[in-house]
Amino acid sequence: MSSRVSATVNLSAISHNLDVIQQAAPQSCVLAMVKADAYGHGAGEVARVIEPRVGGFGVATLDEADVLRSVGIVAPIVLLEGFNFSHELAIAKELKLDLVIHNLIQLTELVNDGAEGIPRIWLKLDTGMHRLGFSSKDWKKALSVLTDAHLPVESVVMTHMACADEIGHEQNQLQEQCFEEMSRGLPFPCSIANSAVILSRPDLHRDWVRPGIMLYGVSPFGAGQLVDSLKPVMTLRASVIALRDVEEGEWIGYGATYQCSTPKKIATVSLGYGDGYPRSAPSGTPCYLNGVYTELVGRVSMDMLTVDVSHIPDVALGDQVELWGEHVPVEQVAAHCGTIGYELLTGLTNRVAFHYV
Ligand code: PLP
Repeated sequence: MSSRVSATVNLSAISHNLDVIQQAAPQSCVLAMVKADAYGHGAGEVARVIEPRVGGFGVATLDEADVLRSVGIVAPIVLLEGFNFSHELAIAKELKLDLVIHNLIQLTELVNDGAEGIPRIWLKLDTGMHRLGFSSKDWKKALSVLTDAHLPVESVVMTHMACADEIGHEQNQLQEQCFEEMSRGLPFPCSIANSAVILSRPDLHRDWVRPGIMLYGVSPFGAGQLVDSLKPVMTLRASVIALRDVEEGEWIGYGATYQCSTPKKIATVSLGYGDGYPRSAPSGTPCYLNGVYTELVGRVSMDMLTVDVSHIPDVALGDQVELWGEHVPVEQVAAHCGTIGYELLTGLTNRVAFHYV
């Protein structure tokens, strides 16, 4: 397979990572996060493979839910932001979506419109992240609205942790306490755990876990704490399209940011920020070619980047360079770029040819 740029998605690695999740949280139902096109992996393909083994899927937008229904997914789909405009409620009902309800406006609208067609609501509590969710004050009101309304719909109570990837962060304890207080005595199943919580806090798994990044084989804790039991799902590769010898003291690429301290052999590789590879990747960012680790030199251009292959024998035009995946953790590339693997995986453009194996 020698496309200009290819992303190979290993679907058996998804199944393996789901095994890891289910072994870690055997009592919990899995809500698999497939928002943002399954973190850039292809939502339809990923969802079809794991549908028989999960309790449902999490998406951010109605369009994402529509894609899943249109490829035949019948499992529950949770719209994580709920509906934000009135017309969206009718579409959500048509698509038979579970709704996250995170404020009194949504709740009132749902009660007035009726919940027929909505299989389940996920009542989101703001326990300290201050992004979405009922505040403690609004929650009392919400509970009385719910009690009065007798909605014919199942409910789950959920929250989202701001600092779960920083084990021991004091915000975690504050949010846990707040969740305990707000959910105490309620007859609803609960959900707190994203990937970081699944891996670090078995006591918070509760009824539903909501894994995203770990499903794709990536550590929620970043390059400093890789998770060996997970298998990377996506491998991004591009081709060597030019080779040259460069003298000591010469400079490489836009802005002449990299000077060769010795004579070097440089490979030009067929991807750049126009493909979604980050322009912020500095010289020294790792990649892998013909069984050998090497690194970027010079700035990433729109369509190309340059790699030091001085120490790699017999590099030829057409050779495939792995930018991340099987041998190069995306977490490490992200760390070089000052970002997180999530952003790199979701940032590939439609120039990239996807292959499912
Ligand atoms: N739950 C909610 C509400 C989310 O927004 C996300 C992702 O941002 C997740 C779960 C999954 O998080 P992660 O990918 O870190 O497992």
